[in-house]
Amino acid sequence: MYEGAVQDLIDELGRLPGVGPKSAQRIAFHLLAADPADVERLAATLRRVKDEVRFCRICGNVSEQDECRICRDPRRDPAVICVVEEPKDVIAVERTREFRGRYHVLGGAISRMDGGGPDDLRVRELMVRLQDGVVTELILATDPNLEGEATATYLARLIRPMGLAVSRLASGLPVGGDLEYADEVTLGRAFSGRRLVE
Ligand SMILES: [Zn+2]
Repeated sequence: MYEGAVQDLIDELGRLPGVGPKSAQRIAFHLLAADPADVERLAATLRRVKDEVRFCRICGNVSEQDECRICRDPRRDPAVICVVEEPKDVIAVERTREFRGRYHVLGGAISRMDGGGPDDLRVRELMVRLQDGVVTELILATDPNLEGEATATYLARLIRPMGLAVSRLASGLPVGGDLEYADEVTLGRAFSGRRLVE
């Protein structure tokens, strides 16, 4: 246990995901020894990300404006929406360069363990988007794990009666993991080999 500010810093760092007590201590002492300008830049970036970054009004992706870069891009096909769990999944799909449509970020998945249901996700916002008749295909690109499967099944049941083509990524993704852990080639293949949900 250290005094005052050093211990506060270790405690704060230790609350971050994936940072254990040892790493928190190591990062804290790294910052203590670092150039003041570097630490100031980090502090300013933390403040800026909270002040300036918000979620896209349309798709829920992170954005610095009301609408994100992808939703604002007129070259993106408005007829196809790829549904993902988190903003980091948008980046994973973008890296494959297989997709030229738009996204919908749910903000999580249906989870029996955490008790997270569809009401906690941006499902209603998705249904509103599907009502203007522009969208013809929905690609369910939730994570290849139990929660992701449950979420995709739920959405497919909800949306299929609306007469849209609903597809799922082809198998071949590492099962049990996150979409973001799949390499670009594997994810790209899963994308181009997507199958219609009957
Ligand atoms: Zn957007």
